[in-house]
Amino acid sequence: MKIRQIGALTAASVLALGLAACGDSAKDGGTGGGGGGGSKFKVGIKFDQPGMGLKKGNDYTGLDVDVATYVANELGHKAGDIQWVQAPSAQRETLISTGQVDMVVATYSINDKRKATVSFAGPYFIAGQDLLIRADDSSITGPDSLTGKKLCSVTGSTSAENVKKEVPGVQLQEFGTYSECVAALVSKGVDALTTDNTILAGYASQDQYKGKLKVVGKTFSEERYGIGIKKGDTATCDKINTALAKMISSGEWQKAIDKNLGPAGFQVDKSKNPPKQDACS
Ligand code: GLU
Repeated sequence: MKIRQIGALTAASVLALGLAACGDSAKDGGTGGGGGGGSKFKVGIKFDQPGMGLKKGNDYTGLDVDVATYVANELGHKAGDIQWVQAPSAQRETLISTGQVDMVVATYSINDKRKATVSFAGPYFIAGQDLLIRADDSSITGPDSLTGKKLCSVTGSTSAENVKKEVPGVQLQEFGTYSECVAALVSKGVDALTTDNTILAGYASQDQYKGKLKVVGKTFSEERYGIGIKKGDTATCDKINTALAKMISSGEWQKAIDKNLGPAGFQVDKSKNPPKQDACS
């Protein structure tokens, strides 16, 4: 989904955008038709998060793309056999449980609520929730200065849930994707966007936003990125964890971090990364 100027949105158009986002996900795979594709390994990623999961034409880039490609290869699926499927935050559990994707690698935090529907391998990265604001705004310095401000996040994300708990009564606008929040932030429809620092750093470093947006830099959660798979598939979970441990010990994980998060100047929290994988259950 392209980053768009949105301006003032009515509830109806927000809903329509959400539905449009649903409509082109899942079907909008990356292999350019070809029919059938029964042997494809389907991986859910984000399409609009620079540095993490980004679709540009037929090109897919980001840490999630590189982690997924490495893991898929270890599971016996060559890069050319992967079909990338858009997995918006609110649709990840459904995409997995209905078998529309084989795995989800999409800035997907491991938590108990999601574990009721899907299983997780990993974590492969630990991020933290932060705020993205306009560069000339000095009034927002952290979650405690959000009173009276308009905040944006995404439906079905831990970011939206966390901030509702952290700042009760905050005016929260929830969109289907973070790029819609960025557009609203630039056009002053909202005052801040909250989600993982990885995602925010990616937007802030985009050419069109350089000097216009800044990350506040005060994280207020721990987001442990996992790889979502069918609930109870412990065998695959174990294989993925073995692959992740190999990616880390071989140096490929660090290479993927430098390549994808380096350009945004993102500072990886080395007290938490690279993480040790949880036992599969
Ligand atoms: N990591 C958080 C989550 O899984 C926020 C990012 C996202 O929505 O993908 O909900």
